[in-house]
Amino acid sequence: MIGFIGLGNMGSGMARSLMRNGKKLIILDTNKAVVDEFKAEGCEVAEHPSDIAAASRHIITMLPRTAHVNEVYTGSSGILKTIQRGTLCIDCSTIDRHMSTTLAKLVREHNAEFMDAPVSGGIEHAKEGTLKIMVGAESEQVFERAKEEVLSKMAKKVYHVGKVGDGQAVKVCNMMVAGINALALSEAMNLGIEMGIDPVVLNKSINTSTGYSYISKSANPVPGVHPKAPASNEYKDGFTVSLMARDLSHAQIASTDCHAATPLGSLTHQIYTILAQNPEYSSKDFTSIYQFLINKKK
Ligand code: NAD
Repeated sequence: MIGFIGLGNMGSGMARSLMRNGKKLIILDTNKAVVDEFKAEGCEVAEHPSDIAAASRHIITMLPRTAHVNEVYTGSSGILKTIQRGTLCIDCSTIDRHMSTTLAKLVREHNAEFMDAPVSGGIEHAKEGTLKIMVGAESEQVFERAKEEVLSKMAKKVYHVGKVGDGQAVKVCNMMVAGINALALSEAMNLGIEMGIDPVVLNKSINTSTGYSYISKSANPVPGVHPKAPASNEYKDGFTVSLMARDLSHAQIASTDCHAATPLGSLTHQIYTILAQNPEYSSKDFTSIYQFLINKKK
């Protein structure tokens, strides 16, 4: 039995990938509507994280923020109250890497294992089971067990990037590049359009030149350039501005900790922080930063 906590935008697709692969789940979410859906699909339902830990040998968490993961593990009805010897705890949420190392230590005191396994890819990849997962695990043996028994059922690629906490470190670096790229491409698209260039032509040219990135390939911020991108659907159903601001804040904490200068990461973080405080943008896809830049007076 696999325990799954957090069946939101990402977690629900990941849980269903496991179910398609024949896995039996016991689930928990604070949103009753989503719990009812999974119950109707044959899952067992838990009341508390401690019920999940008592019933499962694998526990996946896919929660919004560091504080949620901490509460689910260390709260008064948390996983640590009932965790069984040999249980594999896999946290797929994006959280502060120091929390991952703290939880790994607490879990090990119960003779169980914890790994951080943040994911790359959006809601569609979660639904299709084609995520990329970067795993921080104490040993190759524990990593291989998690990959074989669980992670390969939800992902196209699963990488062992280092010890516990290193999955979050890699994720933070990747997100910093994604945020900077979204801002850079938004500026370039705005400039090109102002100079009279057709945005589709401009993006095609960037895509075959040195400005190429994932954002220019699949998620151009200008509506209409990529018909399936969030920009062409009013910036809905993507990775939100507030989650991007949060990921960039993790990068800034790490940059301060490590004395590694990240001037573009810092500027991008500040811009996304302004957007995240604006209700017009906070829940939109992060590529909506383009809308923030364009001259609306014209
Ligand atoms: P979400 O808000 O859609 O889902 C989170 C779920 O957790 C919700 O269903 C919520 O009800 C539930 N929840 C919150 N607190 C809980 C608790 N204490 N106990 C049980 N359930 C609880 O978030 P999401 O978009 O699925 O993101 C989850 C994580 O994945 C985040 O850390 C995010 O950064 C990361 N991520 C998201 C994307 C994306 O495109 N959305 C991509 C990669 C990584």
